[in-house]
Amino acid sequence: MDTSSLYSYTDYMTSYREAAVALWGEAGAFAHDAYGRWLALYPGLPEQLPIVIGITAYGKCWGLTRPTWEHDPRITLSSSIFAKGTRVVDDVMVHEMLHVWLAMTGQEIHHNSQAWYEAACRLSPAVLGHELSARRGADRRSVRVPNPRDGEPGQPPTIVRKVPVPDVVPHRAIATWPYSLRPPHAPPGDPIPCPTY
Ligand SMILES: [Zn+2]
Repeated sequence: MDTSSLYSYTDYMTSYREAAVALWGEAGAFAHDAYGRWLALYPGLPEQLPIVIGITAYGKCWGLTRPTWEHDPRITLSSSIFAKGTRVVDDVMVHEMLHVWLAMTGQEIHHNSQAWYEAACRLSPAVLGHELSARRGADRRSVRVPNPRDGEPGQPPTIVRKVPVPDVVPHRAIATWPYSLRPPHAPPGDPIPCPTY
């Protein structure tokens, strides 16, 4: 009897989604289905990517993208987001997919890049259902204020400070697009059970 196929990795591994279901059940399936739902926003992304669900570093981080993994970019989702609800997971996926898309199209992937700002604004009608207008660096402006150390040797009488500009989308909201831009009481969707270990 030929048992070699029992131990063949490729026999088991028909899709990343199947692997994710084996590891994380409904949460794994939802993550991959969310990827598929948003794929049309990001032309050129592969049909599927490796998606890891686990405890992310620093706890505060809801998702991570590693664009330089040797096989493909991979997305890591914090297991804690699944308890928050389906819409939250969707939002985190949209966010991580933007990092991947920027990386795969050779653009700057960071939240403070021009490319990030442009894409977040362009995609907001489809993702958030409304226009978003934000310009990099527009949320703070320089003002000249009296120098509290005026009078000390070598200190000028005034100094320049950056202050927030009211009524402008702050950088921290763009950096956490799109979930930070949902209305505060937007329904988060149903929680999904997700095993951590
Ligand atoms: Zn990010």
